Amino acid sequence: STNLMHGKRGLIMGLANDKSIAWGIAKACADAGAELAFSYQGDALLKRVKPLAESLGSDFVHPCDVGDEASLDALFAEIEARWGKLDFVVHAIGFSDKSELRGRYVDTSPANFRMSMDISVYSFTAVMQRAEKLMSDGGSAVTLTYYGAEKVMPHYNVMGVAKAALEASVRYLAEDLGKDGIRVNAISAGTIKTLAASGIGDFRYIMKWNEYNSPLRRTVTQEEVGKSALYLLSDLGSAVTGEVLHVDAGYHVVGMKAPDAPDI
Ligand code: NAD
Repeated sequence: STNLMHGKRGLIMGLANDKSIAWGIAKACADAGAELAFSYQGDALLKRVKPLAESLGSDFVHPCDVGDEASLDALFAEIEARWGKLDFVVHAIGFSDKSELRGRYVDTSPANFRMSMDISVYSFTAVMQRAEKLMSDGGSAVTLTYYGAEKVMPHYNVMGVAKAALEASVRYLAEDLGKDGIRVNAISAGTIKTLAASGIGDFRYIMKWNEYNSPLRRTVTQEEVGKSALYLLSDLGSAVTGEVLHVDAGYHVVGMKAPDAPDI
């Protein structure tokens, strides 16, 4: 535990349960002294999110469906009313119809393409439009992406296209907001078994493949993503913006199956 985030107030978006990547990040920030607010997607999640928030000393939980502009406005109005300002934001949200996270990318439907881009890409920009106004002393934002943005991964399909657009939006946001001392970065996380990940076809196989072939010969934990997020969100990362930081046990540097990898 450190004092790195002492006096800093941050919003965590995308907590669904204690397997969520958002949970690993929230724990790391709280452990370093941050004060946290949590947004959750809908009423069904409140019973999970509220006790998790309480366990980190937060009673600030607020609903927000990022597909709804009014819902985003209400969330940020509440942050302004309670805190008056914001120091950091974590966007750990993505969505596609899981029927299109298998089979061929070429078969993506227009409705799911638009929805995936709206929820998984545009929502981060919509969040930063609002966060900018509250980050009067500068700030730091982190979103979550995946290697399927850079290379074709089985079944990732429309989410790969969405993550590529998300990573590009991180660079444009970093430029627009940098003059105001607001840093914008992404973490490209290795595979972690979460609710969202279980919607991806053959996810267990992809996990095993990463375990056998990453330089560290293992997958990563939410706690490890949390520690890297803490670096980007805190003063440790003060000169880092527009970056996509791979927290993936090194998987992204590998070009071929490891010679010692067992068959799956
Ligand atoms: P998760 O299911 O725990 O979290 C996904 C969150 O997105 C949930 O809290 C869900 O409520 C939220 N969400 C979906 N649609 C929403 C909407 N319309 N409004 C508000 N919230 C909405 O899964 P996770 O794996 O922790 O996912 C977090 C992020 O990490 C996602 O962007 C995901 O793509 C990314 N990621 C995950 C992995 C992995 O292997 N799990 C790897 C790399 C990147």
